[in-house]
Amino acid sequence: MHELSIARSVVSTVCERAGDRRVHSVSLIIGALCAVVPESLRFCFDVVTADTVAEGARLDIETPPGVGHCRDCGADVALPDPILVCACGSTDIEVRSGRELQIVSMEVS
Ligand SMILES: [Zn+2]
Repeated sequence: MHELSIARSVVSTVCERAGDRRVHSVSLIIGALCAVVPESLRFCFDVVTADTVAEGARLDIETPPGVGHCRDCGADVALPDPILVCACGSTDIEVRSGRELQIVSMEVS
């Protein structure tokens, strides 16, 4: 399960950074092309944080839309999901954003 492995890697990074401090919230940016279901990721996050310093932490997820550039017609293409097709019918799309997956901030005390 895609979301579970993402949750595991996020939580292990967060707990490492937090040390002995308590984690209250974590903010993530996950590009629309990562095909992550936010509700599913939230569920996995809750499961994985159980018995860690991040137990009960709030998870904020921002999902910026994908943007690509068509190599055939030169158009910039909005990519709402991982299916890379231009309006001209071409699938030769250079992805410019939407695949980011990063922890942007975390609140600890
Ligand atoms: Zn095109």
